[in-house]
Amino acid sequence: DDLSLSSPSVALGTDSTIYALSTAPGRAAIAIIRISGPACLQIYRALCPRARDPKQRMATVRALYDPTQAPSPNTLLDPSALVLYFPSPRTVTGEDVLELHVHGGPATVKAVLNAIEKCNDVIKSEHDNISQSSSFIRYAEPGEFTRRAFMNDVLDLPQIEALGETLNAETEQQRRLAVRGANTTLSARYEDWRQQLLYARGELEALIDFSEDQHFDESPQELIGSVSAQVAILRQQIRFHIQNASKGELLRNGIKIALLGAPNAGKSSLLNRVVGKEAAIVSTEEGTTRDIVDVGIDLGGWYCKIGDMAGLRSSKNEREKIGAVELEGIRRAKQRALESDVVVVVLSVQEGEGGSPSQLTVDPEVVEGVHACQEHGKSIVVAINKTDRLPGSVNTRDEAVASLSKQVQALFKGLTDDRVFSISCREAERGTELGSLTTDPGNIQSFLQGLISVFEEIARPEGIHENDMHDISYWEDSLGVTHRQQSNLKQCLEHLERFLYETKTTENNDTDMVNAESDVDIVTAAENLRFAAESLAQITGRGGADVEDVLGVVFEKFCVGK
Ligand code: GDP
Repeated sequence: DDLSLSSPSVALGTDSTIYALSTAPGRAAIAIIRISGPACLQIYRALCPRARDPKQRMATVRALYDPTQAPSPNTLLDPSALVLYFPSPRTVTGEDVLELHVHGGPATVKAVLNAIEKCNDVIKSEHDNISQSSSFIRYAEPGEFTRRAFMNDVLDLPQIEALGETLNAETEQQRRLAVRGANTTLSARYEDWRQQLLYARGELEALIDFSEDQHFDESPQELIGSVSAQVAILRQQIRFHIQNASKGELLRNGIKIALLGAPNAGKSSLLNRVVGKEAAIVSTEEGTTRDIVDVGIDLGGWYCKIGDMAGLRSSKNEREKIGAVELEGIRRAKQRALESDVVVVVLSVQEGEGGSPSQLTVDPEVVEGVHACQEHGKSIVVAINKTDRLPGSVNTRDEAVASLSKQVQALFKGLTDDRVFSISCREAERGTELGSLTTDPGNIQSFLQGLISVFEEIARPEGIHENDMHDISYWEDSLGVTHRQQSNLKQCLEHLERFLYETKTTENNDTDMVNAESDVDIVTAAENLRFAAESLAQITGRGGADVEDVLGVVFEKFCVGK
C-alpha cells in the first residue's frame, strides 16, 4: 500500500536514536560517546541498571554494565563513567541527548559502543509495542548530529557552515572569520532579502491578476518602476556582499603573493629576509630556482602565501641558451603571477662597471609580465633591490633612489609612489648579523609595511559610501560567507539582473526611464524574482528550498560524531 512507499528514510528519520564516538579515536584519557534521540533515557537505564535516573544537565558518575546480563563485576564495562543527560528541546540536537565520558582506551570505547547497540534488543524485549526495525538505535552517519540540529531549528545552515569552518580552522585569521559566521546575522540578512523579493513579486503579481479594469494608485509603469528601483538597491547590496565574501575567502585561504623578476634580481634573498629563515635557496647561478616554492607566512597578522619563482629572462636577449626546464619555469612564473592577489616585482640596481647603477635596466620579459598583471588588475608593489650598489653617501643616495623610482613609474604606468620601495637584501642581512645599526637595515621593514597596507586595501569591505545605511560591521559580517553561499548569491544576482533587464531598467538608466509603452512581460519578469528568492532560500535551507540537495553539500565535509 501507499504507506510502504513513504516509509521514512533511515538517514533522515529522527525517530531513531543515534550514537557515535565524538572525540578523536585512539588512545586518550577520556572518550566521549554522544547519543541523541528518544531512547536516551532507556539506554541509560539499560547500561546503569541499579542506578537512579541522572539529574538533568548535571554530571553524575556511574558504572556502566553490559545490558544483556545481570550487573556483576564480570559484566562491568567502565567502573566510573561520567554521565550527562540533557532533555530536549534545549540541547545541541534539539532532541534528548546523553553523553557518556568513558575511559579512553580503545577496548573500553568498543565495549561501550557494542553495549549501546545491544540496547536495541533489551529495549525491544521490554516494550513489545515498539516494532521498530534494527535501525531503532544505530551508529550515526557523518554530520548527523548537526543535521538533526538543523532539522530541529537549533542551528541554521550558515551557522552549521561556520561550525565546519571552526573545526577546520588552523590559523588565527581563519578562526576569527569562522566565529563571525557563527551567529544568526547572516541568515537573518538572507531572510530579509528574500522577504523583500517575495514582497516585490507580490506587487507585480497584483498587476498580472487584475490588469484591465482594476484601478491602482500608481500606473502599471510606475509600479514596475518602483519595484525595479527596490530590486536595483537589493542588487547593489548583494553585489557588495559577494565582493566582501570573496575577500573573506581570501583571508581564509591566504593572500597569494608572487615574486616576479629577472634571475638574480634577489627574489630568493628577499623571500629569505621576509620569512626570516632559509626557506628558499639563495644562489648566484641563474635559473637555479626553477620551481615555485610556496611559503605560507603570517605577515603582521595576515596569512599569505609567497611563491618564489624562476626568474624571468627573455630568451632573445640571452647569449647562452636557456634550457627547456628554465623556460618552463618562466612560463609557470608568469602564470602564477596572474593567479596571485599581489605581485611583488623585484628589480635590481646594476653593478658599477659596465652599466650605470643609477640607470635601471629592466628585462623586456619582466616588463611584459608586469603589464599583463596590471591589465588583470593585480595589486603591484615594486622592490628595487641592491641599492647598496648606488654610489655616494646616504644623502646622495636618496636622490638616486628617487630617480630610480621615477624610472619605474615611467615603465609601469599607474604605479603610485607608495608602491615603489628601494631595498637592499644584502644590507638587511648584514644588519641582522651585526645587530642592527639602523632600525630598518636594507629598508625591508618599510617595504613590508607597504605590503601590509596593500593587504588592508584589498581586504577593506565594500559598500561603505555616503548613501549607505549600514555601518562597517554590517559589511564585515560578509567576510564570514562561505563559498557555497557565494555561489547561491551569484545565482540570485543573475536572476535580479535578468529581472532588471526585462523591465528595461539598466544600470545607468533612472528607474523612471522605464518605457511606458514597452511591452514588459510581467509574468516572466516576476518569475525571475521568484528564482532569486529561491536562490536565497537555498542558502538558509528554509523557505521551500530543496533541503536534501543543500544538506548534501553542507554535510559532505563533516565527520561522524559531529
Ligand atoms: P633570484 O634569482 O632573483 O632569486 O636572486 P637571488 O636571491 O638568488 O640573488 C642573486 C644574487 O644577488 C646572489 O648572489 C645574492 O647574494 C645577490 N644579492 C641579493 N640581494 C642583494 C643586495 O641587496 N645587494 C647585493 N649587492 N647583492 C644582492
